[in-house]
Amino acid sequence: MHHYDVIVLGAGLAGLSAARDLAAGGADVLVLEARDRVGGRVEQAVLEDGRILQLGGEVVGRAHTAYLGLVAELGLTLIPSYVAEPGVIVRATPEGVSAGDPPHWFGPGDEDCQRRVTKEFVDLAQTVDPDDPWSHPDAAALDATSVGQWLRSVGATPQVVRLWEIGQLSLASGSVERTSLLGALRKNAAVPSAGHYDYEDWEGLRVAEGSATVALAMTVELGHRVRTGAAVAAVDVRSASASASGSGSASSGPGRCMVRLVSGETLTADAVVSALPVGPLRSVAVTGVSDERLTSLHAQRQACAAKLALAYDRPFWRTQGMNGLSECEDVLGSTWPQGFGLLSALIPPERYGVVLGMPPQARMRELISDVARLFGAEAERPITAYLRMWGTDPWTQGYVTQWAPGDVMRVGPLHGTHEPPFYVCGSDQWVAGYMEGAVRTGRATAGEVLRHG
Ligand SMILES: Cc1cc2nc3c(=O)[nH]c(=O)nc-3n(C[C@H](O)[C@H](O)[C@H](O)COP(=O)(O)OP(=O)(O)OC[C@H]3O[C@@H](n4cnc5c(N)ncnc54)[C@H](O)[C@@H]3O)c2cc1C
Repeated sequence: MHHYDVIVLGAGLAGLSAARDLAAGGADVLVLEARDRVGGRVEQAVLEDGRILQLGGEVVGRAHTAYLGLVAELGLTLIPSYVAEPGVIVRATPEGVSAGDPPHWFGPGDEDCQRRVTKEFVDLAQTVDPDDPWSHPDAAALDATSVGQWLRSVGATPQVVRLWEIGQLSLASGSVERTSLLGALRKNAAVPSAGHYDYEDWEGLRVAEGSATVALAMTVELGHRVRTGAAVAAVDVRSASASASGSGSASSGPGRCMVRLVSGETLTADAVVSALPVGPLRSVAVTGVSDERLTSLHAQRQACAAKLALAYDRPFWRTQGMNGLSECEDVLGSTWPQGFGLLSALIPPERYGVVLGMPPQARMRELISDVARLFGAEAERPITAYLRMWGTDPWTQGYVTQWAPGDVMRVGPLHGTHEPPFYVCGSDQWVAGYMEGAVRTGRATAGEVLRHG
């Protein structure tokens, strides 16, 4: 039986970018992917007219250096994202819809209050080391506090709390009441900026050829090293010393690590890199790794979200002076234009169950009527529409990593660390998920594996 140097679990951006660097470093590497396609949470559909519609991860920012570096290596093109679109944002709440700033629920003093608490948040974030938030003298207290509690404690008005909430749900990353202050500060500290979430830093760019093309281009380079339709059921890891002293598992075969597929087939390698999201990883039986490492990994969670992607003949929102961007308290959390006449929308975790409760045949119509409330009747007539329920997709079980109050301490300093020959990467292993987290941790992990030989 062929014995590999490294087996990588999962062909998302993390697994593929790790495998690409491993192969370039001379390792005999195999990527195992459960689905019949690569890319994981990046996926795209090509329309009849040639436009490419992103159903998953889509935009990046100028602070996403690992992703930008990879895109340059692959010879792909970065262009401004929706952030460059002219026009104003729309906000929709049960009592009204308004265009531009300030939001329609703001009253006297709220804008000043918003500026003050934002500055306080950014100042506090500067006291947090994103690589080691546990070293903060108040780490446990900051982690036990929700962003909502903190906002009220510094005197944010209910109107300002509402703006933070609608903003947080527009990113589909979960309510401010269920977000750890330490987790939020860590995210801000990882990409320092004057604001709470700088859109240029986080979302100002996109790959012109399509963000899922990044995964497809790496897969072409990797060729036969990527195997789809190969769901992993179990991993048995034995360290070199355990094998040498005779205590290694016989089932590990000639190598130190054994990977068993759902089909029953087994494969062996010197090292295993898990690039699986934290949800599906919980269903993989991992042995030979310390309880501490597994407990930390299994303590992580994801926000569940769905994405609606709509294609129209033209960007009709522009004729009304709108940029296609919205923040909503309907079932949708937000919309933004992803390309000419193409609109994206996210359904946040708090409203995911509402969509599940809709009769399937009514889902699309009900969600599109939310879009029409924002941009008018033309929104009711897309050329094509996709709804991707990522939160209940068995191979994702989420959308983006989430830190609820207490989670940063619960996961602890083992976050993102390796226990050779068992290595861990993936967007969940960075401070805030995102495609940047996948590429950054994937490439760093390949470096670690190659260093260990
Ligand atoms: C709707 C949506 C919108 C997003 N928007 C953005 C955005 O605009 N910008 C941004 O930066 N990020 C965005 N993200 C997040 C970003 O897409 C992800 O963080 C990133 O793509 C995750 O990459 P990954 O490799 O860590 O994980 P994944 O892409 O999830 O890859 C993991 C792979 O493991 C496979 N797998 C799972 N279980 C098994 C198993 N048992 N055996 C074998 N294989 C298995 C999966 O099929 C998958 O292919 C978005 C995500 C979603 C869902």
